[in-house]
Formats: sequence, C-alpha cells, structure tokens
Amino acid sequence: MDPIAPMLEAVLQEVREDTSGAVADYIPQLAAAPPDRLAFAVVGPRGHVFSVGDDEVAFTIQSVSKPFVLALALERLGRDAVFARVGVEPSGEPFNAISLEAGTGRPANPMVNAGAIATSGLAAEGSAAERSSTLRDTLSRFAGRSLSIDEEVYLGESETGHRNRALAHLLRSHGIIDGDVTTVVETYFRQCSILVTVRDLSVMAATLAFGGVNPVTGERVVREAVARDVVSVMASCGMYDYSGEWMLRVGMPAKSGVSGDLMAIAPSQFGVATFSPRLDRHGNSVRGIRVLERLSEEFGMHVFEPHESIAEPGIRIERTDGGVIVHLGGELAFSGAARVVGVLRDLTGADSESDVLVDASALARAHPAALSVLRAQLETEGGRLHFTQ
Ligand code: GLU
Repeated sequence: MDPIAPMLEAVLQEVREDTSGAVADYIPQLAAAPPDRLAFAVVGPRGHVFSVGDDEVAFTIQSVSKPFVLALALERLGRDAVFARVGVEPSGEPFNAISLEAGTGRPANPMVNAGAIATSGLAAEGSAAERSSTLRDTLSRFAGRSLSIDEEVYLGESETGHRNRALAHLLRSHGIIDGDVTTVVETYFRQCSILVTVRDLSVMAATLAFGGVNPVTGERVVREAVARDVVSVMASCGMYDYSGEWMLRVGMPAKSGVSGDLMAIAPSQFGVATFSPRLDRHGNSVRGIRVLERLSEEFGMHVFEPHESIAEPGIRIERTDGGVIVHLGGELAFSGAARVVGVLRDLTGADSESDVLVDASALARAHPAALSVLRAQLETEGGRLHFTQ
C-alpha cells in the first residue's frame, strides 16, 4: 500500500476538529462556502500527486494567483522593469492596505492587492478579455490542465471591488499602471476568480518548487530565474501580515488566499496545497496553517533546516587497470566541490603514477562555480587528471 496518503490523512485528522476562524464574507459567493471542507495535496519530483480530503472540490484561487501573475510579468518584461513599478518589501499591513511608497506610488510588494493589481497590469496586453485569457493560459500551464473562471465570483468581485478600484486609480495616477484602469482591475478580478482544486494548486506550487518545470507535464513554464524570484517574494511577503512568523514557524515560501486556499513550497522537494475556508484575523486559513506546521515539523521541510547532501556530494572511487575513476553523484554545489578537490589531492598525492578520471556524468545538478573549482584543480594537476561531464 502507498505509505504517503495515510500519513497525509493522519495530519488532516489532527486538524479536523479545529472550527475556529470565519469564512470570508465580502461577497455572497465566498460566504456560502461550506466551512468544513478540508483538503490537502502534495506533489514530489516525480510528479505524482498525493491528495486527501475534499480534493475534487473546486474553489476560486483568489490571492494565490498573485505569484503566478508575477511570474508571467517577470517572464515578459524582466526583473528590472517589473520591480521598478512594484517593490519587494513585506508591508506588515493587511492585504488591502492603501500603502504606496511616498513620492513614487510604488506598492510595497506584488503579494498585497496594490502590488498585485500593478503586476496584473504588467503581465499582459490587449482588452480585459485578451489579458484574462493570457493569464488563465499561464496558470493552466502551471496546473497542467485547462482552468476556467467562476463567472459568479467574478461578478461578485467586480460589483463589490470599490477598494481595489480605488487602489487601481491611485496606481494609475502615479503611472504605475498604464492605460485604462478598468481593463487592469477587471483582469485582476478575473484572475482571482479562476477555479482550482487542491490538486491543481499543489502542481502549481511544485512547478515553482522545481525551478519553473511542471513535474507532471514536464513542461518548462517559466525560466528558473523567474521561479526563484517569485519564490523569494513569497518567502518574505506571501502570508499577509503574518509572513515573518510563518517563516519562523513553518519555513516554507507560501501564499494564501481568502477562499481558504494555501500553497507552500519546499524547494526541489515538494509543492503543497491545502484548502479549508475558515480564516484567521490575518486572512489565512486556520486549518491550512496547522497542516503546514505539522508538515514542516514532521517531514523536515523548513527551508533553513541543514541540507548536508549539498556539502557532501556522492563520491565513489573505482580502481581500474587504466587508473582511478572518481564517480560523482547527487548535487555538486560550491561547498561540495571543495570536498571533491580534497579527495582528488589525496588520490594524486598517494599514487603518483596512475591517471585519475573524474566522471561527472551522473550528477543530477552541478553549479557552474563548482565545475570551475574542479576545472581549476585539473589545471593545477597538469595532465594526470581527466574529466567527463
Ligand atoms: N479578490 C480578493 C481581493 O482582491 C482577493 C484577496 C485575497 O485573496 O487576499 O480583495
């Protein structure tokens, strides 16, 4: 039997009894969400989705769309152009605060509404319908399936979204967004109304966790540098004004939304998503936070936990008639390269006759700086060290 699902189920059972918090009620469509719904999904590097609870239930993505729209803007315009118009500092204020940098009007970061509206304005071109379809296509590629929009929620957002409209007009007055304000803000409302399941969100999170490659479809959705930038912003700003404490307790870059969804990332390991509609005073899902706290503690997913394998790459020494072969495996980072050099020095020093071949062909990943260290060592050793990659 698959050992993972029962472990996830056990975490879900632990938090199920907690009925604290309240469902978002600023629009009737969200207020009507059955509050007891609870779901949890995890995707690892092989792209297998493990999910438990109400994992087939669709809900609107809301603010969890923000990192993906940021990714699209970064892919399209590059880092400098995007961050000239929106900052990357945690605001410490509620998600819908009217806090723009004095003078420039630059929103604090792309995860609060002001910054997200600015980012939506940068992510696509054309009419609201064209922009919305570009955004939906991108989010669909992150999810690995075609996503749709909940038109009722969109209408609810649009009818009640006066504060977001006010923010958009302020952004327009500062030149942070260009063109027609209504086009930008309606695009933002539509992006919040995209329907996903917890399984979709876990795959979307995993695509960011694996450097922009969707582990289910194998498609590269965004560049590695873009995924890294997005995950960095999530790490400091993803959980509204709870982001600092979240990093301390859970230690996974994350993003939450008012429908009760939450996604988190263990870089190079997992994409995780939860859904439970009751929210705490910061607007984060109460049981979602508890699930992620358990996951971080029990499964060792805090990003600042030590990862020895990075400093200790796999090294296997094979002695053949033609000389010594040093097989490298796993990940070779700068710190690990120093260890390999130590091993090579011992080998060449102890046995001055035979040639040494460094076989790097089985490395899962090698940082360019680590390879430079190895090449430099080859040069110092003259013709006796060889290298295959
Ligand atoms: N549609 C919501 C708004 O912009 C999204 C907020 C959220 O999920 O934080 O007000």
